[in-house]
Amino acid sequence: MATTVENSVGSEAKVLQSYVSGKWQAGSDPGAALVNPTTGDTVAWASSKGLDLKAALEYSRNVGGPDLRKLTYAQRAELLGEIADTLAARRDEWFEIARRNSGNTKADAAIDVDGSIGTLKYFAKIGAKLGDAHLLREGSPMRLARDQNFQGLHVGVPLDGVAVHINAYNFPAWGLWEKAAVSLLAGVPVMSKPATATAWLAQEMVSAVIEAGLLPPGALSILCGSPNDLLDYLRLGDVVAFTGSADTGETVRQHARVRQQNIRVNIEADSLNAALLGPDVSPDSPAFAFFAREVVREMSSKTGQKCTAIRRVLVPADQAESATEAIIAALQKIVVGDPGNALVNMGPLVNLSQRGTVEEGIRELNTQAEFAYWPENFTPVDADAKKGAFVPPALLKTRSATGADIVNRVEVFGPVATLIPYHDKENAFELARQGGGSLAASVFSSDTAFLAEAGIALGTSHGRLLLVDPAIGDSHTGHGIVLPSCLHGGPGRAGGGEELGGLHGLWFYHERVAMQGSVATLAAINEKAADPTA
Ligand code: NAP
Repeated sequence: MATTVENSVGSEAKVLQSYVSGKWQAGSDPGAALVNPTTGDTVAWASSKGLDLKAALEYSRNVGGPDLRKLTYAQRAELLGEIADTLAARRDEWFEIARRNSGNTKADAAIDVDGSIGTLKYFAKIGAKLGDAHLLREGSPMRLARDQNFQGLHVGVPLDGVAVHINAYNFPAWGLWEKAAVSLLAGVPVMSKPATATAWLAQEMVSAVIEAGLLPPGALSILCGSPNDLLDYLRLGDVVAFTGSADTGETVRQHARVRQQNIRVNIEADSLNAALLGPDVSPDSPAFAFFAREVVREMSSKTGQKCTAIRRVLVPADQAESATEAIIAALQKIVVGDPGNALVNMGPLVNLSQRGTVEEGIRELNTQAEFAYWPENFTPVDADAKKGAFVPPALLKTRSATGADIVNRVEVFGPVATLIPYHDKENAFELARQGGGSLAASVFSSDTAFLAEAGIALGTSHGRLLLVDPAIGDSHTGHGIVLPSCLHGGPGRAGGGEELGGLHGLWFYHERVAMQGSVATLAAINEKAADPTA
């Protein structure tokens, strides 16, 4: 089925349609322009104006849900594997769209596209272990009274609503599939709402899966363009999984319908993630090199547009100078420009508006922190600096551990980090916590006792902690990489959400119920249930 129509607004750009209520539908106006951030050219338009979103949600609930839930976990896991294979076969196309609409280098696109395919494959594999079951089981039947025949068992029943997935612009592929994989495995149909700025890739991937006819009708829908009144029609059994800025997350959480109906919401928001160089580490130690490499990789990968990227760099005060020098030496090797040029290792931000926001954010940081690195005569390779959304990487530095509260407030969503010197380990832990709740922090030291202490001290304010001693310096997966087997999310400012974490992620899409009954009744329920921890 064609997913694009002749553009009605006079350029070569595509008009992205939404796949809702089992058919492709275009909005009634051109909507928002999606651009190539390297050139500023419009590549697509997206509008959801006039779409009947009440009917769309009902279709997902009433048509997609029941058919999905007739299948067992193992059958749905098999479908995830087929989706992964279908997407993998067109990997080059996805990379091209990621270059044209997100300004991704090949390495950036791999994080998004390969990350999404890898996540689907992972859930296909671990979902198969749940076998022919239709329910989840938690623990074993337990005796509840003197009569041994009266027992209790906690089970998870898949929700009978629709999962609304609202995603951020920086991961159009991974954001779509990391949520959809878990939801579909649970048996809950998906209404995916990609961020408009980069919806093209998400829309084409969904189109590939719909065309392949892999899923029951109504199991997978996509809404391109503004969310409009989508949330007004939520009801019992529906969930919202949101990824984006803290402000929009708050708007979603405060939505009248969400509050009135107590709709289950998972928020993955922004985060001021830290990297911490241990007090024991000197410039000639391997941990120092691993630390500097990771900071620079996080600043430049996806042009710093990763929710998990390192924003605050905590170093012992007596190492501040050598750490600054090491980071600058690596930053000087970053080539910014057209991601189509193989020599370029950092592309543009997503659009000129985001460039303006990042430049403004850098100026804000600069009110309390000085520039350590900010190239003045910056020219992007093979690109027009005025039309493209390019910024060079910026490293700022506070004079002391105090008096720079702005670095704990402002998330600059670009290739920007601020170095903060600390006095002692307690001061370092306190500074890391001042992010107000973060997705990830990484700690670099040769002292495993210190790493363990840091991990525990930072545990209540972080969702994930990467504790790097030289033994894993080259083999760890990286500060910013979200693995499907590990929890993703963080407390406080980071949204308080939890995604992934292997089969643990399935619980968001199930109602946990305490079943009380006779041994025979519970055995009949238990027969249909699988233990996700087994
Ligand atoms: P955003 O502006 O908050 O938008 C996120 C999504 O919310 C988009 O799909 C947007 O749609 C939608 N939206 C906007 N207003 C809405 C409303 N009133 N009701 C429902 N949905 C609404 O964020 P972004 O600029 O795309 O992404 C960057 C931010 O996301 C950064 O702050 C980053 O830290 C964060 N992020 C967090 C994670 C994580 O896992 N924690 C991952 C990636 C990014 P439109 O695009 O159509 O406006």
